[in-house]
Amino acid sequence: MADIHSYDFSGKRALIRVDFNVPLDKETMAITDDTRIRAAAPTIKHILEQGGSVVLMSHLGRPKDGPEDKFSLRHIVAHTSKVLGVDVKFMDDCIGEKALEMSSSLKPGEVLMLENVRFHKRETVGTESFAEELAKHGYVYINDAFGTAHRAHASTTIVAKFFPNDKMFGYLIEGEIKAVDKVLNSTEKPLTAIVGGAKVSSKITIIERLLDKVDNLIVGGGMAYTFVKANGGKVGSSLVEDDYLDVARKIMSDAKAKGVNLYIPTDTVIADKFDNEANRATVKIDEIPDGWMGLDTGDETSEACREIILNSKLILWNGPMGVFEMENFQQGTVDVANAIVEATSKGAFSLIGGGDSVAAINKFKLAEKVSYVSTGGGAMLEYLEGIELPGIKAIKE
Ligand code: AMP
Repeated sequence: MADIHSYDFSGKRALIRVDFNVPLDKETMAITDDTRIRAAAPTIKHILEQGGSVVLMSHLGRPKDGPEDKFSLRHIVAHTSKVLGVDVKFMDDCIGEKALEMSSSLKPGEVLMLENVRFHKRETVGTESFAEELAKHGYVYINDAFGTAHRAHASTTIVAKFFPNDKMFGYLIEGEIKAVDKVLNSTEKPLTAIVGGAKVSSKITIIERLLDKVDNLIVGGGMAYTFVKANGGKVGSSLVEDDYLDVARKIMSDAKAKGVNLYIPTDTVIADKFDNEANRATVKIDEIPDGWMGLDTGDETSEACREIILNSKLILWNGPMGVFEMENFQQGTVDVANAIVEATSKGAFSLIGGGDSVAAINKFKLAEKVSYVSTGGGAMLEYLEGIELPGIKAIKE
């Protein structure tokens, strides 16, 4: 594996797998959030500045059966040109003679964007011959698409084998890996993880793994009620996974055995229906009346979490404390976000990774005030679970 920091790109053509799977307005096809394009810019600019040229490949959406205009990368060429400050050329297929002609005639400083790789079924199947055709576009291969690194697709994984020495991570993936490794492998302490979100079942592997690493584990969101019920509490009609009560009990006893401070919320904001305009009250989390459901954490919980977070050197946040999409039930999530911001300003390292806590931190406009916000939802979750991501393995081996 090569290193983007030291590699000499001058006069070379780099084939970069980026994640330009950006949301588009259904009517105008305008990009509604260009975070992913801006996130890939440093890698692209670095190569251009060094006198290399760039061929970009990406997927967009989930086309089912061949080309579909609404999934065409053509819609994002103009905006990418603006972000990069370079006129990006476009080729309406990612393989074939014409595409190769275009890529091979690129001059130093030029950029070509290929059409959606998923217009070919062989992309997601991970067909080697398709990957080989893609590989012809570059002398060097860079994977900078963290969001798809957990997929063994042709352009994210298989293609790497055609660049035995000239393959590397881009700055974006490198940043993601460094951020997680810093949190999970650092000897700095205390390390606190806040795991919220809807269900225990979707976070169980992460929680089990975190128990071996963290000093404090704060459980929030919908899954907290499964823990409360497992302890004999009354949770009304809150979200509960009854078949995970034993799992919750095991997590609590494992935490004890491992000396982890497992914090479960003590108060909750309840509602008489799942609606922003529902009647509300704040009660002890294990005394929720019948017909009411817990949709957020209360002030007492926020205060306890704040104290734990402010005492931490490393913080990992995955999943909201409540139904933050509804204004009346967002306060617990806002409070945790603010505590993380405060801890960060005092020198802690904070990683917001995977799923809806990223959406929450963006909604509250606090993304600039934490150490790292991950771009890869599912990929980040798998990485946190300890799964070796195929896209990362393919570069390393
Ligand atoms: P996840 O994707 O697992 O991180 O779950 C995020 C979702 O969990 C968000 O859409 C939240 O609205 C939802 N959520 C958080 N707290 C609760 C709760 N107390 N009851 C129901 N859903 C919740």
